[in-house]
Amino acid sequence: MRKVIIIGGGISGLTAGIVLQKSGFETHIYEKNPIGGGELTGWRREGIYIDNCIDWLTNSKADGSEMYELWKDIGMLGDDIKMCPKDKFFSYTADGKTVTFWRDLERTKKEMLEISPEDKDNIEKFINTVKIGEVFTVPANKPMDKFGPKELKKFWPFLKGMGAIRKAYDGMSLQDLADSFKSPVLGKAFTMMHPANTQAFSFIVSYATITSGSGDIPVGGSLPAALRICDRYKELGGDLHLNCPVKKVVIAGNQASGVLLEDGTEVNADYVIGATDANHMFTKLIPPEYMPKKMKAVFDDKEHYSTFSKFHAFYLIEGKVGIPEDTSFWKCDGPMIGHTKMNAVGTLCYDYDPTITPEGKTLVQVKAIQYLEDCLDWIDLAKKDPDAYEARRKDYADKLMAEIVKRYPEAEGKIRCIDTWTPATYASRCNSFNGAYMSFVADKNSKTVTTPGVIKQLKNVFIAGQWNMGSGGLPPAAVQGKFAAWRICKKEGVACK
Ligand SMILES: Cc1cc2nc3c(=O)[nH]c(=O)nc-3n(C[C@H](O)[C@H](O)[C@H](O)COP(=O)(O)OP(=O)(O)OC[C@H]3O[C@@H](n4cnc5c(N)ncnc54)[C@H](O)[C@@H]3O)c2cc1C
Repeated sequence: MRKVIIIGGGISGLTAGIVLQKSGFETHIYEKNPIGGGELTGWRREGIYIDNCIDWLTNSKADGSEMYELWKDIGMLGDDIKMCPKDKFFSYTADGKTVTFWRDLERTKKEMLEISPEDKDNIEKFINTVKIGEVFTVPANKPMDKFGPKELKKFWPFLKGMGAIRKAYDGMSLQDLADSFKSPVLGKAFTMMHPANTQAFSFIVSYATITSGSGDIPVGGSLPAALRICDRYKELGGDLHLNCPVKKVVIAGNQASGVLLEDGTEVNADYVIGATDANHMFTKLIPPEYMPKKMKAVFDDKEHYSTFSKFHAFYLIEGKVGIPEDTSFWKCDGPMIGHTKMNAVGTLCYDYDPTITPEGKTLVQVKAIQYLEDCLDWIDLAKKDPDAYEARRKDYADKLMAEIVKRYPEAEGKIRCIDTWTPATYASRCNSFNGAYMSFVADKNSKTVTTPGVIKQLKNVFIAGQWNMGSGGLPPAAVQGKFAAWRICKKEGVACK
């Protein structure tokens, strides 16, 4: 039996492992943390569950799509897994008006027209383009660089739809989209969820996922999902080695003989898949000259490709104080979080999932965007001065809590912060590049780049993980794991299951 070593037990590595186990390989996943799942995770503080990841899950609808079938295969979703339907993408309130991106697109349109009748043409263009975007799906059976006429035909409606969206909003960032509206409230709403330099295209596709009913959240959230996927891998005979960081890939000529673990053990294999953060892979585990050219071009082009992360604070409130479920932002004269001024604050309220929210209580998470400068500061501070790092977390959590109380005065005396985490958390826990938990944001003048996960100089090493594909996220991470497995199956001449 051919043996494959997978470095990293995030969703990408686990997906690669599951597919390879099903296809008849012996696989070993080496994961540095005591738990699998990577960024798809959650934890408990004071008995309260804190969810880290899924705000929406693309292709969650049981419609037979390739991506849905992959979710089922790996145990993310399934007939017996209940879903929390997402009624809205998010809302933004300012100057007494609320813009909501509802699941019900007609309702969104009606409310937008009520807020700003003078933006009628722009609103209709937006709504019609989102409708087109509802064909969005993630091809998950075969890498797109290997598509033949059969696949091109199958995905033609999707490719045509994506082309139409690009044409409608060509060369536009979310800031440009915001500026194109006469109503400042309506415009500003577009810049709440994603960084303002994100392409307008990405927003349309994300929102269309919600309106098509294909962006729901599995009940219980991220940690149970991660554990289901780990279980699926182990049930199939996969060996998940936890607390086992890999030090480097051992290279001999034009191939790898295996990996060297941090504890000094060398393990041999026929194939190696790197399913970690790409920067970590190509700086620590394997020399930088092996990074595929296309990927290197993106890493090098700092003008057009950026990363971001967030400062997170999680609060427990005794009782219900009027905070709407899911994500809602409001305009405020908020604090500086790092170098970034909060002109709006948003709460993600878990009332939508009673398995997460204890009865009679409210759980909210605030996510404050952090750009590169902020992220590097957090990482630096956490390393150099842990006390100052703790103090800064507390200070920001207090300031954001004050904003919540200002907006929801009933929360006064009933709210307390139970945890905070920062870009430095992702950097230390998952070895994430700049503390980012998504891949690069391509600006409006650039293409979202997909890198085939192959290393030209090495015939038996493949790259998985979200950094291979566009702006990242769970579906790209999972399919890149599948595609690495697909390439190995192809080399071995066996069917990829
Ligand atoms: C707050 C937050 C919200 C998010 N919301 C969404 C959402 O709503 N929808 C969505 O689709 N996506 C979302 N994401 C993004 C999603 O979580 C990621 O895109 C995805 O989990 C990345 O998976 P991955 O396997 O590529 O990488 P990772 O999850 O980073 O996995 C890599 C693994 O490699 C391990 N590793 C690193 N170095 C080594 C080493 N040397 N040896 C051994 N192991 C190593 C790490 O510990 C990690 O487990 C969110 C992420 C966060 C943090």
